[in-house]
Amino acid sequence: MITSDYLLKAMDKNKQVRVNIAHTTTLVEEARRRHNTSATASAALGRVLTAALIMGSDLKNEKDALTLRINGDGIAGPIVASVDSVGHGRAFISNPAADLPSCSPGKLAVGELVGRGGYLEVIKDTGMKQPFVGRVNLVSGEIAEDLSSYFLLSEQIPSLIALGVLVNTDLSIKAAGGLIIQAMPGADDIILEKIENNVLQMDSISTVMFQGKDLESVLEAVMGDIAYEVIANRPLAFKCTCGRERLVAILANLTREEIEETIEQTGKLEVSCNFCGEVYNFTEQEIMYKKTKALD
Ligand SMILES: [Zn+2]
Repeated sequence: MITSDYLLKAMDKNKQVRVNIAHTTTLVEEARRRHNTSATASAALGRVLTAALIMGSDLKNEKDALTLRINGDGIAGPIVASVDSVGHGRAFISNPAADLPSCSPGKLAVGELVGRGGYLEVIKDTGMKQPFVGRVNLVSGEIAEDLSSYFLLSEQIPSLIALGVLVNTDLSIKAAGGLIIQAMPGADDIILEKIENNVLQMDSISTVMFQGKDLESVLEAVMGDIAYEVIANRPLAFKCTCGRERLVAILANLTREEIEETIEQTGKLEVSCNFCGEVYNFTEQEIMYKKTKALD
């Protein structure tokens, strides 16, 4: 039984196909709790965060970062996930309370909530002067299909993607996870067909995650009789990069007048982080001290 979130990355012996499987139930539940998302918003947010964490596992250097942004024209508003190269991710959905009735039994209306118009954007910051930015139009707003279109059009990588989130009636997350299978350049069509058939015979990815099988046995089912090798196995977690120090530095850029005006209007100096919902309270002295230090 799986009790914690992790990612497994494997490759067939002839290095033609790469398979990533992620179990993300605990971290998607943390995102849901932090943002107080509706059932459908949880599914949308969970799919985006799961996909971003899998993509982050391909970053080469420790300081590299990746942002996956879904700018749909639906009522969810933009959904953004930001991940590092070591398995930490954070994410938000602009309208966490937005929800829509399901159109088919057992299926949340993610595509409708996200919207079918708009774009998907990937930003990779690998320490170069300019970050890499890839952008494609959304296909269905269901995230997996949209991402598959991104990989094909922007990175020329044929992919098979499944992302799933199951939500309990009390809105907590029952199960979440994802699968991204990618053909390497020159991959044999037969091996791809084989894998696709194996995946089609499996239950949906969210059901597989709910069944609690470890990812090693899910990988076995995906690969069938194809010989493979596990190339990475790492824990995944919800983790934000915000913190008091960082926010004090940002607030110190405000003028004394702006700071005083905010305190006058709201009675406090409060900042909440978009990505994790954490609320920070500061005193005027704290900010002014930083301001004078910055001038030294
Ligand atoms: Zn934060």
